[in-house]
Amino acid sequence: MKLAEYRKKRDPTATNEPFGPEPPAEVAPTLVGAFVIHQHAATRMHWDVRLEMGGVLCSFAVPRGPSLDPAEKRLAVHTEDHPLEYLDFEAVIPEGQYGGGPMIVWDRGRVRYLEGPAEEELARGKLDLEFEGMKTRGRFAFVKIKNAKENEWLFFKKQDAFARAGEPELVDDKPRSILSGLTV
Ligand code: MN
Repeated sequence: MKLAEYRKKRDPTATNEPFGPEPPAEVAPTLVGAFVIHQHAATRMHWDVRLEMGGVLCSFAVPRGPSLDPAEKRLAVHTEDHPLEYLDFEAVIPEGQYGGGPMIVWDRGRVRYLEGPAEEELARGKLDLEFEGMKTRGRFAFVKIKNAKENEWLFFKKQDAFARAGEPELVDDKPRSILSGLTV
């Protein structure tokens, strides 16, 4: 049950988050898919980077958000898989519920996995990918931190034509939802 942890953390009668059906246990290996990056003002501000993989959204919480500067290695905490319905989800999650607070669709688009199926990249602790979003474009990587707490990865831009160093940071320069134009 890929969404068991997601369901366990949430009360469907009290939250407005989607409760999509459990995806099939066996799905084809994922080479391309959709991605969404939510900006989420929960207890602490963070950006949730969610990658379609195996019929769910593999999710990482990134406290400082994505950067286009390859020198900026951002902490990314691997969290529970989310249902695909989350690709369109933008709402204020009720206070007192898990993840309570406003959440916007900060970016969305296609992700391509560059070093084989996403499931295999995840299992070996290194995701090489290419985003084709409205704001987030080009090659990025997630690399699991050795000898760190479980679930701690680094998320950073790889050097390419979309890389950009210095101010303003992408999250400051383009703060609005690509769906509604709202800020968080
Ligand atoms: Mn979140």
